[in-house]
Amino acid sequence: MMPPYAGQPLNAQICQEFDGVGMTSPRSRQRLIDSLLQQGILHDSRVAQVMNMVPRHLFVDPAFAQRSYEDCALPIGHEQTISHPSTVALMTQWLIAEQPIHKVLEIGTGSGYQTALLSALCSEVYTVERITELSYQAQSRLHQLQVGNVHFFTADGHWGLPDLAPFDAIISAASPETLPPELVAQLKEGGRMVIPIGAEPQHLYGFVRQGEQLQQYPLGDVSFVPMRKGVAQ
Ligand code: SAH
Repeated sequence: MMPPYAGQPLNAQICQEFDGVGMTSPRSRQRLIDSLLQQGILHDSRVAQVMNMVPRHLFVDPAFAQRSYEDCALPIGHEQTISHPSTVALMTQWLIAEQPIHKVLEIGTGSGYQTALLSALCSEVYTVERITELSYQAQSRLHQLQVGNVHFFTADGHWGLPDLAPFDAIISAASPETLPPELVAQLKEGGRMVIPIGAEPQHLYGFVRQGEQLQQYPLGDVSFVPMRKGVAQ
């Protein structure tokens, strides 16, 4: 049994206003989702449904919009990338698999694409980005999509958001060298965290907090940008 949605449903009509043609059309998006479903990468119907609504082409550098519905990472400016849809699917599914998520902490807002998915699946999203301009662009895109349950922060995600802890779930799109203890401390009892760790090749892990113990689940090798120290100048 899948836990119920806790998020704020996306407004289908608003999402449709961004429908493109050809490579940025809803059909191209549907083809990508179908292919992830067929490969067994995507198996949570809630995640499939929101990935099928969010116009990913709105979140990438316009020069690469035509490739938005290929399963690849794409530039979003400032030498950062939006993650592969297959990786986003894997991480999001793992995060919401067991319980409704009320408060989620996201490290690495980037384009805001993952943030938009989380907003539809979790009650409140707290998202941290170290590059101010990326955070502003993400805020503007989510405003266009009329998403209202996201709180944006420009900060170094290594430290989490101690004043707003604890969180039901933590997701990071940037890879620290080692697991930051501050993030573990901000996870609720029974809470779930999904995060890449290390330098190339990075390993993706799921963690579940049980008292002072952390259960660890290896989720495969992945390629992510490093979690950098400090806020960008
Ligand atoms: N989820 C994003 C992925 C962006 S890539 C998306 O869907 O587009 C990872 C992001 O993590 C980059 O924007 C990068 O600037 C950010 N990042 C790297 N180190 C960070 C840190 N210490 N704190 C917060 N964000 C960080």
